[in-house]
Amino acid sequence: MTPPFQLLAATAAGGRRGRLSLPHQTVETPVFMPVGTQGAVKTVPPDTLKALGAEILLRNTYPLYPRPGHESIHRMGGLHRFMSWPRAILTDSGGFQVFSLSSLRKVTEDGVQFRSHLDGSSHFFTPEHSIDVQIALGADVIMAFDECTEYPADHGRAQESLRLTMAWARRSLAHFRAHRHEVPWRNMVQHEPGVPNPKRENSCLGRETSEAQTQLLFGIVQGGMYPDLRRQCAEQIVDMDFNGYAIGGLSVGEPRELTFDIISEVLPLLPKDKPRYVMGVGYPDEIEQYSRLGVDMMDCVLPTRAARHALLFTSEGRLNIKNKQFAEDQSPPDPACSCPVCRRYSRAYLRHLMQAGEPLSATLNSIHNLALYLGVMQRLRNSLDPFPDEGKTGF
Ligand SMILES: [Zn+2]
Repeated sequence: MTPPFQLLAATAAGGRRGRLSLPHQTVETPVFMPVGTQGAVKTVPPDTLKALGAEILLRNTYPLYPRPGHESIHRMGGLHRFMSWPRAILTDSGGFQVFSLSSLRKVTEDGVQFRSHLDGSSHFFTPEHSIDVQIALGADVIMAFDECTEYPADHGRAQESLRLTMAWARRSLAHFRAHRHEVPWRNMVQHEPGVPNPKRENSCLGRETSEAQTQLLFGIVQGGMYPDLRRQCAEQIVDMDFNGYAIGGLSVGEPRELTFDIISEVLPLLPKDKPRYVMGVGYPDEIEQYSRLGVDMMDCVLPTRAARHALLFTSEGRLNIKNKQFAEDQSPPDPACSCPVCRRYSRAYLRHLMQAGEPLSATLNSIHNLALYLGVMQRLRNSLDPFPDEGKTGF
């Protein structure tokens, strides 16, 4: 069987051009993944994301767990079908959000006890439960359950947190290997080769999936801001033989130079033939910088969250569309951008929508910001690729 990740080209500085073959989409890397918390990228419909060239989305697991519930989504055929997104999805383990959103949480060797943000009910999240939930949702890539070490944390605290993350990684992997066949979409797409499958009629699944294809499980390297702990974690996690590796515990309030140092420290310790994912970064120049170091995948809420607060990322820098100076500015938000918003609307109109509190404001601002992020990655792929993948967007 062909390995899911192919390295197509690499630069002397470490930058990589690759291809990740997932059950629902072949993803060209390096790639940026737009984030959707409640099963949707806020204010942006799936067809628009497709047209912008998004090949893989990140979905947070925890918010879908109490409502509508992972078992309900499993019964309905999985997350792709539920949200009508035919391309790839990555889900996080739920750990980060359990830690960051929930009050009254208690971490033990076995897992995390917490209260629901919806109704105050008590829940216990273990590595096995996180994997069960992620298999039921049916994303293409799922993540091991880990503890995201807070910042700042002293060496002793980071070491203890790391010990827990490594124990939970082993349990996540064992449980995944025993239950990976329970993914919701495998049965729905099995059919005789060459024979049309009636179950595929009106299916939102965008391509054939085969019996051999199933979810990939990524391990996560933690260790706080300590290079020795990061090294120790990377070596042990790589020994466990995951399908890919993430660097977690960054963008938690540390200075940007430290983020760069930790990524630079960890990347050489990860195998060259598997995808590398840095979680939760960053600004447009950061995602370019980290890709040039050899990061293949990144996600961040920033383009859509900033959009809802009037902040547009442009080729000329950041622009606050609420500013009075744009009141009669007929130029597009970013003259160098060819997204549908910049081709059609003026800064003056976007400022008016924001001032008037129109929901369309969040939609248009988000479309532009996502187009800019996805455009940064496409240009980067082209620069790394002797055969550029131009013309992938629908615009
Ligand atoms: Zn634009």
